[in-house]
Amino acid sequence: MNTAIFRLCFLLFLPLASLAQDSIPTRNVVGCVSGNCENGDGVYRSGSGNLYEGSFRDGQYYGKGKITYRDGDVYEGDFAQGKMNGSGVYMYKDGTRYEGSFSKGRMDGHGVIYYVSGNKYDGSFANNMKSGEETYYFVDSSRYTGNFAFDKMDGQGTLFYTNGDQYRGSFVKGKQWGKGMYLYHDGNTYSGDFVNGNYNGQGTLTLTDGSYYEGEFKNDNMEGSGIFFYTNGDVYVGTFVNGKYNGCGTYYYAGGERYEGDYLNNQSHGTGTYFEEDGTGTMYHYINGAIVGEGIQLYYDPMMSSEAPTLAENKPKTEEVKAAVHAEAEPIVKTTESKVVKEAPIDAYQEDAAPTTEKPAKSEIANEKPNEAKTNASVEQTKEIARPSSITNNVGLMCPACKGKGKIYQAEIRKNKMVTKDISNGIGPRNFVTYQVNEIVRPAGNVQCGRCSGTGKLKE
Ligand SMILES: [Zn+2]
Repeated sequence: MNTAIFRLCFLLFLPLASLAQDSIPTRNVVGCVSGNCENGDGVYRSGSGNLYEGSFRDGQYYGKGKITYRDGDVYEGDFAQGKMNGSGVYMYKDGTRYEGSFSKGRMDGHGVIYYVSGNKYDGSFANNMKSGEETYYFVDSSRYTGNFAFDKMDGQGTLFYTNGDQYRGSFVKGKQWGKGMYLYHDGNTYSGDFVNGNYNGQGTLTLTDGSYYEGEFKNDNMEGSGIFFYTNGDVYVGTFVNGKYNGCGTYYYAGGERYEGDYLNNQSHGTGTYFEEDGTGTMYHYINGAIVGEGIQLYYDPMMSSEAPTLAENKPKTEEVKAAVHAEAEPIVKTTESKVVKEAPIDAYQEDAAPTTEKPAKSEIANEKPNEAKTNASVEQTKEIARPSSITNNVGLMCPACKGKGKIYQAEIRKNKMVTKDISNGIGPRNFVTYQVNEIVRPAGNVQCGRCSGTGKLKE
């Protein structure tokens, strides 16, 4: 007798693998043990050692019966043509119990499986597998209601967690996969792409305080490009790694100030510039949030000002915000050779500037001398020429921004920066809250004058 072939064939009937029995000879009688095993009631032991007690028709199990498998499984219920057919209860030797409908030896139709773990599935079966729109009850009182395919949560469904969280959306092979929504019991919401049970792809995370993040996710966390809108009006636009500001970003304070530059783990790291509301910028180098070296006060072109995206009722499209940010003013670290045109009206300079009778209508064309060099004659320089040169000698004109000192004193500015942190306990998806970090964005002290590059003089 080739037992190997027998085993292979029966394995196809999983998970009722207990049907697969080997045919090791036993001392028990094989065949009809007692009664009528043709038409009537009898007890029959199969070659594989399973014992059937019940009714027979034409030599086959038919009607009510009970089969005790050699490995300990027990089925009691209806039979037809020698197979489990109709309604019955199948008890696995490990304690798992199926109560429901059978067809041609398979779980088929409506049934309930009680797992040893305490989990329970109440729904329909096809070909021994959970299938269709049903409910699966986990022992921890969480449950899944939705579609099953090939024995697994698959298709659209809702997972209700014990703690009150819910997932609604797409499942693939038992995992949240595709478009979905995770509703935290505390009110936070993630809506977007899932991969293998995790936030992954494009998504929106909305927190109970009303702040929200729109952008890329990876491994349940904000990662990639995104925008975080805080309820206090602050907005961060830039890149994230593991939920933190990392890479390049701009933090817009509600008051109109902003920081533009490099980040590492929520802190300024690399080169960054803090811009005041009026556009005055100071550029620093940072290491882990600490300023190193001397700052440089930058010049600012008011014609190229920009506004931060706002926390609007209707959320602005990420693309729009990105476009707005892209069109942003570029601060000009001014060496005299770089593009001239109109500078920002810096206070210090305004005081120095001698009032002129006739304002040159801020166009270079108003100036006579058509044969002069085209670009280098700025309005301010023209004014300067009219003044008697005082401190400066022939080397250059005194820088009006720093009054020839090469340095500009700045007072300290402190700001609160919003960041997020994970408050989950490590079970289930991460959950977030926002909080404030108070930091010095501009320390008190002298910074290099960006207009004259710290020389105090402007070259002709
Ligand atoms: Zn200067």
